[in-house]
Amino acid sequence: MRTVITGGAGFIGSHLCERFLAEGHEVICVDNLLTGSRRNIEPLLGDHRFRFVEHNVSEPIEVDGPVDNVLHFASPASPVDYLMHPIPTLKVGSLGTHNALGLAKAKDARFLLASTSEVYGDPEVHPQREDYWGHVNPIGPRGCYDEAKRFAEAITMAYHRYHGVKTRIVRIFNTYGPRMRLDDGRVLPNFMGQALRGEPITVYGEGQQTRSFCYVNDLVDGIYRLLNADFSEPVNLGNPAEITVLQLAQEIIALVEGTRSTIIYKDLPQDDPKRRKPDITRARQLLGWEPVVERSEGLRRSLQYFRSVVK
Ligand code: UDP
Repeated sequence: MRTVITGGAGFIGSHLCERFLAEGHEVICVDNLLTGSRRNIEPLLGDHRFRFVEHNVSEPIEVDGPVDNVLHFASPASPVDYLMHPIPTLKVGSLGTHNALGLAKAKDARFLLASTSEVYGDPEVHPQREDYWGHVNPIGPRGCYDEAKRFAEAITMAYHRYHGVKTRIVRIFNTYGPRMRLDDGRVLPNFMGQALRGEPITVYGEGQQTRSFCYVNDLVDGIYRLLNADFSEPVNLGNPAEITVLQLAQEIIALVEGTRSTIIYKDLPQDDPKRRKPDITRARQLLGWEPVVERSEGLRRSLQYFRSVVK
């Protein structure tokens, strides 16, 4: 099997590269390193079955020889990153997805799109099921990401229906683990970095908004299963264990022994979803999948990683 992974040098992408190599695939990782990093894939560079191509997939993608799978994971994905890079985010979700689908079509390969719980926006239905159409502000600060991913889903379904490409869509809910960028602005690296440095923990709003955090290995396992399933409608993957942001702050303070950090409150960003939790019935039934890593264990493993990179 030869598998192309766009965004392969990113957080989730690099874990996918690792998993597909372990499954015996040849992996071609395509990434322009806008938010990904060479450091994430450094350990893989010595493997003769792994190839890194530095390239922006919003420009046409050329790959020699046969390709069996195209996994499209390239995109800024944290609110801070896509606010900083709104146009590359819109381009990679639209032009990049078009190019990645074109590659899959030309090679008669399976295609898997990394979509997101952000397609549900600030949801009015809880927990979120795949048949919910969402509540998205197209012109708000998150619009560049949300609408790019919604377009990406639409063009993926069009390639499936019109060209018969074997497509999969995964809607990824909050995921965490080693190789998240410490400065990507997301809640978990922020809190862990702050706790390790003894700085105040910045809770936005009153911290009563909820998220549901999935450990990266669980997510990658679900993605692997989805690719191998014959199903083209979107599938939620995430951990339904829902907590408030304030609770997360307290758990992290408790975990970082001896930290001097206390909690401070800052303004809630515009359009910040109030509640988020995946309904994973479809993944359970279709893939026999559910997360197995408890948050306590996942946080411990993540902390170990952040300790090694914090300055
Ligand atoms: N958040 C926070 N403090 C931070 C960073 C984020 O309270 O330092 C909150 C943010 O307002 C949101 C939640 O944590 O409600 C998750 O934010 P994140 O950026 O990780 O991703 P999102 O799930 O919003 O895409």
